[in-house]
Amino acid sequence: MPVRGHTLVRGDTGSFHRPVKGGTVVIEGAVKRFGDLEVLKGVSLTIPSGSVTVIIGQSGSGKSTLLRTINHLEPLNAGLISIDGKLIGYREDANILHELKEAEVLRRRVDVGMVFQSFNLFPHMTVLENIVEAPVHVRGRPRAEAEADARVLLTRVGLSDKVDAYPRQLSGGQQQRVAIARALALRPKVLLFDEPTSALDPELVGEVLGVIRELASSGTTLIIVTHEMGFAREVADTVVFMDQGRIVERGTPEQVFSRPVHPRTAEFLSKVL
Ligand code: ADP
Ligand code: MG
Repeated sequence: MPVRGHTLVRGDTGSFHRPVKGGTVVIEGAVKRFGDLEVLKGVSLTIPSGSVTVIIGQSGSGKSTLLRTINHLEPLNAGLISIDGKLIGYREDANILHELKEAEVLRRRVDVGMVFQSFNLFPHMTVLENIVEAPVHVRGRPRAEAEADARVLLTRVGLSDKVDAYPRQLSGGQQQRVAIARALALRPKVLLFDEPTSALDPELVGEVLGVIRELASSGTTLIIVTHEMGFAREVADTVVFMDQGRIVERGTPEQVFSRPVHPRTAEFLSKVL
């Protein structure tokens, strides 16, 4: 159903300056334990290329852990995750042990970008240096090319005048927009956001959401953990509610926010809406 333009023009860059193509993320029976604590208890979810998925749920329900497994930061104990059919991390069960070599993991991680609550910029580097660091040193792109790209990305996030600034000279909202530009510089198929506005003063939330909103129509697959329910309703193709390591409900924003089926969803929404 053509609900949003970007599902039809996937791969079209819209206002972006070069093709950005999304990746399809398939999560099947993902289990993650920390010692005795089972944090993901068999999570299954298919996320179509170019779509926007918003994950909601109370603190401790496993949202960050799920993002970290998608980004190869945490290996699974069971189940599997793939992007465009390529497995992430490893799968371990009674009969199968599939472990990727470190170099292969690093290569596949390039498909996935992540933006954190705390912007994690390199404090001793300028904005431009922050953005070109990985493309030049990890991917071996020529510096001039990477810098030209970075300037275009900075214009996209409204910071073309901050090329030579240091992170400490920027507001939180500006730093987060640089962090988004930095993630985009690696041309990820999938971009993960873990509470990207939670560390911001309220008046700075809008500028960061505005940048993410624009990315939503770029063709990149977005998976966003957020407590901004109005934003979720507006931008999500699919809303996923997690509770105690499980997906207990998912649907369109309209379904989940207006007609939640599961009592836990209704209870959560009654506290946050
Ligand atoms: P959320 O992002 O939904 O708040 P998290 O994924 O951060 O939830 O955490 C889920 C649970 O896993 C919590 O109980 C948390 O304490 C635990 N947890 C997360 N990371 C680790 C870790 N590295 N070691 C041990 N426990 C962890
Ligand atoms: Mg979290």
